[in-house]
Amino acid sequence: MEFKNETIRDFSIEKERNAIRSALNSIEKSLPFEIPISIGRTEKFSANRFVQKNPWSPELVVSRVSYSNVHDLEETIQISKMNWGPWKERPQQERSTLLMKVAERLVSKKDFIISVCIWETGKQITEAEIEFAEAVDFCRYYATIANDQLSPKNINLLGEDNLYYYQPKGIVSSISPWNFPMAIFTGMCAAPLVVGNIVLAKPAEETSATAFEITKCFWEAGIPKEVLHFLPGLGSEIGEAMVTHPEVAVVNFTGSRDVGLSILKAASLVSPKQRMIKKVICELGGKNAMIVDADADLDVAIQSIIPSAFGFQGQKCSALSRLYVHNDCYNKLKERLIASLDGLLIGSPLDFANRIGPVIHEESYLRLLRLQKENEKFLTGITSLYPKEGFYVAPSLYEPPEDSEMWNSEFFGPILAMQKISTFAEGIQLANNSDYALTCGVISRNPKHILEAKLKIDVGNLYINRGITGAIVHRQPFGGGKLSGTGAKAGGPDYLHLFVEGKTFTENTMRQGFSRDTLQ
Ligand code: NAP
Ligand code: MG
Repeated sequence: MEFKNETIRDFSIEKERNAIRSALNSIEKSLPFEIPISIGRTEKFSANRFVQKNPWSPELVVSRVSYSNVHDLEETIQISKMNWGPWKERPQQERSTLLMKVAERLVSKKDFIISVCIWETGKQITEAEIEFAEAVDFCRYYATIANDQLSPKNINLLGEDNLYYYQPKGIVSSISPWNFPMAIFTGMCAAPLVVGNIVLAKPAEETSATAFEITKCFWEAGIPKEVLHFLPGLGSEIGEAMVTHPEVAVVNFTGSRDVGLSILKAASLVSPKQRMIKKVICELGGKNAMIVDADADLDVAIQSIIPSAFGFQGQKCSALSRLYVHNDCYNKLKERLIASLDGLLIGSPLDFANRIGPVIHEESYLRLLRLQKENEKFLTGITSLYPKEGFYVAPSLYEPPEDSEMWNSEFFGPILAMQKISTFAEGIQLANNSDYALTCGVISRNPKHILEAKLKIDVGNLYINRGITGAIVHRQPFGGGKLSGTGAKAGGPDYLHLFVEGKTFTENTMRQGFSRDTLQ
């Protein structure tokens, strides 16, 4: 198997634009999506449902999501235990082939899945296209490396046979966020499954329709329903139960820092019926910086800053929120940033011309408006024209003092803070001055500074002379350190190892009186 990244369509071609447009327009007729719980071969709906409103037309309900509960989880665990044996004993090649089929199935439903995601999240079309490609890449990449890397290794000596092989860990709870409901949800299911684990998938409430469409692709491609269960619902109910259940071997979590840290704590308690130490993978938030050096190409700086800070309304863990700019170019860059902000087109993602859409829901919208209000005295630039209906938050630029929360807290919205630096070294020191360590950017033409940045900036993904979002599977394994995460590096060569454990067989092949090799 050879891995190749999925291609991204060029929407300047009319045919491509028309295909996605007609899929997007067709969604409205099917609303709302009714999202079930799927436990093995049984599908059911809860009486109460979570309602996800459309972010640009909140009067429209996009999905009504069933709440799964602890009884559903218990049923899932029993089915999983009965079905793990045959699944883990299948040859690796077979599971990898199935995952390749999942990728094909996803591609065959591309426009529909992207459209569901856009209606649920308000994501701009090109951003959704790139995210979808990442979902497909995760399937193909993990299928390929599982085949290449995880085959058993023999070391046989005279009189001694050794075998080192990998065994899946068992039941994996994959708990995912709403901001990349195609890519992250897919990757968090695909990796544990391909190496023979059972997956209990809990999507974020907001994006359960997207996640359900993707889960259907796994089943349609031949992944048994008994090894991939779909448990939508509340993080505080089904999510917590999926963390603490004694039969869950791995908690695979991506989301906010507070929830991640509470999961680490809950999973560390060993309940009386528990027979293993739970493994917890936590990929958390970021407060990501960019340093613009004295000699920076300001065109490159602007092209890097705007999409990194405001793409998908700043709702990316990798988004830029702290900008450190050298004195020598500070005023010039600030002037250009203010002008670019005012030129940003904001509106519904159904229109290709719009660069910025609405934020995910009313709660985020009100929280971000409050933050903008609280920091109004530091405001430097803001997009003035934007629709007043829908959850639109104007992209905004601030110059807050050093002790402001704007330098520390993840806001998860289109809010950028900027500050002057006198030296590149000061920029590095400020960039590192954070609990988070996810992404960082450097815009510089000075090779010595670029080298210094590579040596001294402590983040998971450092980007030089480009934007700091949009990591590509295989080329840029993604994930942070410090309080940004456990360093799992999704889309990288080590990721699958999180879902297996090594086993060693050693056999003494010397026999008194006969040699195995002489047996006929
Ligand atoms: P979140 O509120 O932490 O939720 C993430 C998932 O955890 C959701 O499915 C949520 O369920 C569930 N959950 C909530 N409380 C739980 C609990 N007590 N026990 C178990 N599960 C629980 O995060 P979000 O708002 O969806 O996503 C945004 C955050 O994710 C940001 O902080 C962002 O930086 C981070 N993120 C990190 C990465 C990365 O790779 N490092 C990537 C993307 C996003 P509900 O649906 O009920 O809320
Ligand atoms: Mg949530």
